Amino acid sequence: MLFINPAFALILDSRKDGGAQQSINEIGHKILNANEIPYKVTFEVSKKEDINACTHYRNNSIVIYRGLLLYAGSLEEVAAVMAHEISHAVDYRQGALKGYFSYLMAGLSPKKYEYKADKRAVDYLVKAGYNPVASIVILNKIAPQHRYDWYASHPLTTRRMSTIYEYIYTKYPQYLVDNKYKDDVYYQNFLLVTKENRKKFEQKVKSNSTRSVNYL
Ligand SMILES: [Zn+2]
Repeated sequence: MLFINPAFALILDSRKDGGAQQSINEIGHKILNANEIPYKVTFEVSKKEDINACTHYRNNSIVIYRGLLLYAGSLEEVAAVMAHEISHAVDYRQGALKGYFSYLMAGLSPKKYEYKADKRAVDYLVKAGYNPVASIVILNKIAPQHRYDWYASHPLTTRRMSTIYEYIYTKYPQYLVDNKYKDDVYYQNFLLVTKENRKKFEQKVKSNSTRSVNYL
């Protein structure tokens, strides 16, 4: 049987009739509605082959690049990236000056906002009926690992994935107990590259500590 990866099928669609755009709109609005997000957000599939997504603070539009669709193994993984971007869009509208202040703060301390977006994306996904473990799977696949944390605007990928794992474990353990991604090669690779981090987290759980783990 010929297997066509659903996210790849999206790209084939996008070349014909804007099918990818329809699916992206639907996923985006499903997340917005399920989480009762009262801000207007729009979604756009860019024809650029970048493996990325971004949120424009001026008009709250989220752009999904076609390269990302190539890498995603499922629509759930695309939803995981979109949930992260929607969190940025919410920050860019909340607080002082209709969100402009938090936009400036995000520019000053981007890592803080990245962790916030990663965790909030887990909540958004669960509410919208998606499995949040997809966030770990897609991150492990697309986000490169820099040598040092201070080097980049985003935190170390292993640190991000471990933080998401801890958040799911703490808040939604059922997704790890009955983990549909457990045999996924990218999830398996996540387990491999975060072995030390998960050991640290295990010690935290065992000792009932509330201190945050210093992930590598
Ligand atoms: Zn981000």
